[in-house]
Amino acid sequence: MAIIPGMTDLTRPYWEAAREGRLVVQQCPACGRSWHPPLPACPHCHRAGPGWREVAGTGTVYTYTVVRHPTHVALADAIPYVIAIVELTEGPRVVTGITGCDVGDVRAGMPVRVTFSAVTGEVTLPYFEPVA
Ligand SMILES: [Zn+2]
Repeated sequence: MAIIPGMTDLTRPYWEAAREGRLVVQQCPACGRSWHPPLPACPHCHRAGPGWREVAGTGTVYTYTVVRHPTHVALADAIPYVIAIVELTEGPRVVTGITGCDVGDVRAGMPVRVTFSAVTGEVTLPYFEPVA
């Protein structure tokens, strides 16, 4: 079971891309920098109205934690699981779950790639898995 994230006008392009199997982050048309999660203005130069760019979906585990106690009843059957910050190849860091391996095998610096899990007809969640 998954907890379904809310979708707003700000985050809609992210979720629509995920549903299509693409990972996107915001990019500033003025300074060219990218970031995640979505914001109404560039966190670096404060230019409003950022655009979006598709990223490769590869990166490395920057840091992680193994969750052994459910923080929500909907996650009771999911423990233990890994929540990580993945540093994308393009630079931005994303909070995500690590799948496709034992929780004890996750390490900082581990190469990972995005994988998508459709949880409803509308919502697909990006996770990351080890690169074989
Ligand atoms: Zn900027």
